[in-house]
Order: sequence, then C-alpha cells, then structure tokens
Amino acid sequence: MSILVMKFGGTSVADLDKIANASARVKSEVANGHKVIVVVSAMSGKTNELVGWVRETSKFYDAREYDAVVASGEIVTSGLMSLRLQDMGVDARSWQGWQIPIETTSAHGSARIKNIGTEAILAKFDEGIDVAVVAGFQGISDEGRVTTLGRGGSDTTAVALAAAFKAERCDIYTDVDGVYTTDPRITKKATKLHKIAHEEMLELASAGAKVLQTRSVELAMRYSVPLQVRSSFSDEPGTLVCSEEEIMELNVVSGVAFSRDEAKVTISGIEDTPGIAAAIFGPLADAGVNVDMIVQDVSTQGVTAMTFSCPEDQLDLAVKTMEDAKSAGTIGFKDLRSETDIAKVSIVGIGMRSHAGVAKQMFEALAKDSVNIKVISTSEIKVSVLVEQKYLELAVQSLHDSFELHKLS
Ligand code: ASP
Ligand code: MG
Repeated sequence: MSILVMKFGGTSVADLDKIANASARVKSEVANGHKVIVVVSAMSGKTNELVGWVRETSKFYDAREYDAVVASGEIVTSGLMSLRLQDMGVDARSWQGWQIPIETTSAHGSARIKNIGTEAILAKFDEGIDVAVVAGFQGISDEGRVTTLGRGGSDTTAVALAAAFKAERCDIYTDVDGVYTTDPRITKKATKLHKIAHEEMLELASAGAKVLQTRSVELAMRYSVPLQVRSSFSDEPGTLVCSEEEIMELNVVSGVAFSRDEAKVTISGIEDTPGIAAAIFGPLADAGVNVDMIVQDVSTQGVTAMTFSCPEDQLDLAVKTMEDAKSAGTIGFKDLRSETDIAKVSIVGIGMRSHAGVAKQMFEALAKDSVNIKVISTSEIKVSVLVEQKYLELAVQSLHDSFELHKLS
C-alpha cells in the first residue's frame, strides 16, 4: 500500500472554493494509486479568532478548555473536506485527533506527540476507504482530554503521521510555492530552492523562516521523512526538504533568515562565581522566557556581565523575573539594561562546515553597509547577528547579495 500525506495549511482551506481546490488535488493523487492521509489546518484566521474568544471570556483561562476550543477549527475543515471529497466520488472520511488516536503529553497548548495508533486508519484503508482526512494540530492526553500541539502544529501532525505510516512522501501545501533563499518581500532577488537539507531547514525555521513549524522539521529529520513544500494554487514543483545525502553539492549559504521582534537584556555587575549562569537562566526558563542568544563577558576583577536576547513580547516577563530573583537574593547584580526594536539576522548553510571565512564575509558585508552588529552567535551551520530593527531589510539584502544567493536554485 502506497501512502501519501498531504497537508493543507489555513490559506489552502480558507473557504469552500479553496477546500474544493484542495480536494481536487487529493482526488488526483488517489487516481495515481495512493491511499492519502490528508491533514488540514483551520480556515485561515480561524485559530486566531478562537484564541481571541478564549482570552475575552477568561483572563486566566483553563488550558484544557483553551485546547477544547481552539482544536475545533481543524475539526470543521476535516469534516468539510471529507464531504467535498465524497461529493467528488472519493471514498473519504474524517478523523479527529483522539479518534486515531494521536496520543500526546498533557502540556496543553504545546503538547508533544508520544504515539500514533495506525490500526484504525489502516483497517479502513483495507476496507476500501481511500482518503483519511485528519484534523491537524491536536491529540489526546493520558487523561483523555483534547490537546493542541502549539501554533503551526498541523505541520507536526502531518510529519508525525508520515513517519508513523511510513508514507512515501509528505507534501505540505501552502500559499508560497516553496522555500526561498530569503523572504521575497524583502528582496526580489530571493530565489526558490529546489532542494534543501533537513538540517538547514531546521536552522532556517528556528532562525525565523515561517514556512514550517520547527518541530515538524525536527521530526522529519529524525525519521528521514522527505517533505515537499509546494503551493496549492500552482502546479510548479516545490522545494524538497530531504536528507543531506540526497543533495549533490551543498551550499555554503542556503538562506538568510530573520526574526523581527527581539529584545536584548544586559545584566552587569554580577559576581563571577560558579553557578551564576544557572542562577540567571534557571528562573528565566521556569518563567517560560524563550531565551535565544547568550553572551557572557570576560570578567574583570571577579565581576562580569551577561547579555541575552528573547522575544520582545517576553521582555517585561524577563525583566521582572530578574528583578524578583535579585530581591529574593538568588542573584546579585548592579545594573539591568534592556533594549527593544532588535532584529536577528542569520545565514544558514551546510557547506559552512567545510568552508572557512563565512563569518568574516558576513561581517564585511554588514560593515560595508554600515550596519552595526550588537551580538554574534555561531553554530556549525549558522551565523546569527543582532542588529537594530531599522537595519533589518538592509542587512538581509546585503547578505543575500554578498553570498550571491540569487544564483542558487
Ligand atoms: N490552526 C493552527 C494555527 O493556526 C495550527 C496550524 O494551522 O498549523 O496555529
Ligand atoms: Mg503553518
């Protein structure tokens, strides 16, 4: 049995016409001889609306009820898609997360998938059903409550199903026709990549590229699921996200990613003793602050400074957490300064591993355009810098030019 997973994002199921368009694509894959597991998102805008209703109803809402409400968007589209397919003569049926079941942790709002039962769907495929339309983004906890997987979680549902069912491919249908070297809204020179390695996609996604949920790429990498990102509105081939071995020549830099709304916190006058980093970042982690870059200064006379970045909307929480820890006496520091309107710009490429001078070229390109770098961090296949937000576009364009990304394909 050849199984294909086809995931349709919110814009691809935004109204009944678009659901019909998506259904036609599913029908043609059935005609190609595949059994298809379709994963649908909620109609675009729906999840935001549902989240808004929850917040309006209850300030300190019960996360279990939040999940019960927001999971409903996907339930609606799964039923509608199934109806449309039936109308087109395709033997289809819908599945909600708990019916499969997709078993998850109890971390409501950001649950993780623990296990997927394949029996129920396989039994129906054996009976002759050709398409299982699955409501994305949701599962069921050990307590029997509906859970959701975090925003953008339908991508993760799709990849997890592809892994569990050993699908031939996982096609992610969206409103862009693939993965680009950078956001085409920032430079017209951005080009579509035909292939990109899982690892590069993972770094791009975590550095701010919004095509796929980071966790879905992590899963795809772990289970070697080939992903294809493509548009549901065109027949152009998309971008194949595959293992490194399937790429002939690795790019030194494959893309420039960015995230706009970052903040930076510098704590100075810290006594440099063992355990100080744990004393700072422990409470931040407990408070749920998503700390990204961290830089510790060399200490002079036993006193040091620590700088970290976090999403701008978590800055108040981060500052409060630090001040509370200071009052409680768990950390001691003299001064805390924060800065908003920061952006992070990153270059990513697997070929970097075997190439010297990539960081140097990045810094020279930024210097040439007088973009001041505030913080730098590197990994094996990524170099990131923090810059003032007003330089974001310029920085992206200058890096795209410097590494000649318009020549990639
Ligand atoms: N509908 C959910 C969201 O908007 C999940 C998804 O579409 O992936 O976050
Ligand atoms: Mg999405």
